[in-house]
Amino acid sequence: MSDVKTELVVLGGGPGGYAAAFYAADMGMDVTLVDLEANPGGVCLYRGCIPSKALLHVAKVMNEANEASEYGITFDKPKVDLEKLRDFKNKVVTNLTGGLGQLAKARKINFIQGRGSFVDSNNLKVLKTDGKEVTVNYQKLVIATGSRPTTLPGLDLESSRLWDSTGALNLDQIPKKLLVVGAGYIGLELGSVYAALGSEVSVVEMTDGVIPGADRDMAKVLHKKLAENIHEFKFETKVVGVAEEKDGLKVSFEGKDGKTVDEKFDYVLVSIGRRPNSSGLGLENTSVKVSDRGFIEVAENMQTADANIYAIGDVVGNPMLAHKASHEARVAVEAAMGKRVAFEPRAIPAVIFTDPEVAWAGLTETEAKAQGIDHEVVKFPWAASGRAMTLNRTEGMTKLIVDPKTEMILGGALVGPGAGDMISEIVVAIEMCATMADLKLCIHPHPTLSETIMEAAELFYGHCTHMYRPKKKSKPAA
Ligand code: FAD
Repeated sequence: MSDVKTELVVLGGGPGGYAAAFYAADMGMDVTLVDLEANPGGVCLYRGCIPSKALLHVAKVMNEANEASEYGITFDKPKVDLEKLRDFKNKVVTNLTGGLGQLAKARKINFIQGRGSFVDSNNLKVLKTDGKEVTVNYQKLVIATGSRPTTLPGLDLESSRLWDSTGALNLDQIPKKLLVVGAGYIGLELGSVYAALGSEVSVVEMTDGVIPGADRDMAKVLHKKLAENIHEFKFETKVVGVAEEKDGLKVSFEGKDGKTVDEKFDYVLVSIGRRPNSSGLGLENTSVKVSDRGFIEVAENMQTADANIYAIGDVVGNPMLAHKASHEARVAVEAAMGKRVAFEPRAIPAVIFTDPEVAWAGLTETEAKAQGIDHEVVKFPWAASGRAMTLNRTEGMTKLIVDPKTEMILGGALVGPGAGDMISEIVVAIEMCATMADLKLCIHPHPTLSETIMEAAELFYGHCTHMYRPKKKSKPAA
């Protein structure tokens, strides 16, 4: 006997889950949303995108105040009131998640706080926070249970000095010496925050540079700027041991040469990736299939091997990004409504919100080379941008990857302040099958950093106003 009957259950209230629930309700479905927290929001709002960006904003203000001395403005050394800073970050989270709670109510979504697990393909059992259990009978269900941080392999140390991203975002204190394990976007974002707040931050990374996955020319610009505030980068180095000592954590590093070196840190932040939350859901009571790496397997319409059940977001695979989850959500809902739909974007933007920001979308240059795709690359250095000069930030770069035959934009990347906002233009261009001529002919406002995209397109045709490049070959005039 079920306690609740509903048309659609959404299990997990992150940016995948709440987007699915809200869209389904807007489409007229009767929706029940189940999540462990008191309000929707998920990792993104409670422990991810939002609190990290609030702190990165603070770090940027501090860095800019410091750099202002280069043009004659000097501020006193900043004082950090940690409690007030924590309150600011928490208030942003509470306002946003509270707002989502209101939006769910306004849509008459039945929100149940508790842990859900499958009884079978039509029933979900929810253990509520008050200890009571309810069974929800559904016609369709969307799994959006997200992911959790990966721990260091072979390390079973429990220590309050060993943080994951959630621990670092708690902002309990500013360590004197902080080691960040992993130079992906989470490690670099949080490492930048603590460096700005006054920690001596070291970063250790197994590969040979920051942000594995991004083109190296973009990553190098970021690395150079970050190195002004990050104490040390240890590349091609592995953490092979962490031991608790009275006044810190002793970390053992193994370099490329196989030699091991020990160093002591006050705190260690492990940010080496995330794992899907697919275990403990009772999936064995359904026909849902899970890959070796724990990701729920889905078709292009987000349907699992169980006809009643769909899955979206981090739990179905990479890239683990909030906006990917939200777009998959709408596909899953439409599929559950019986529409023929597919999630097949040409470009999912990725942004690193450090200072400078790095953003890319569509095909990267590295992928184009590795896959043998015929392509041409144009780069517009921000040293030639008037706007970048007014900001005293000429280190940036705009790059477009182009199909030489059709002149269509296959991909693009930006590094520099505001890159995360500007990448959307490249996403639209890719999705609309725009050509370089389209980008070049669209009037961009002056003086803005967005002009660098237009000027990169001009460069493709060999006649960029603010740069001179001898033509390599003749191109049809666009
Ligand atoms: P989640 O947001 O993980 O939500 C899953 C929800 O399901 C959670 O609320 C959880 O409580 C609930 N749940 C799990 N199991 C159950 C259960 N059995 N019963 C009930 N509820 C359950 N992405 C970006 O796009 N941009 C960023 O800037 C960005 N910054 C990040 C910074 C950090 C520090 C971190 C950790 C992540 C960041 N991400 C960012 C990634 C982003 O947070 C995730 O990609 C996104 O939250 C995934 O959404 P989701 O809906 O799949 O799952």
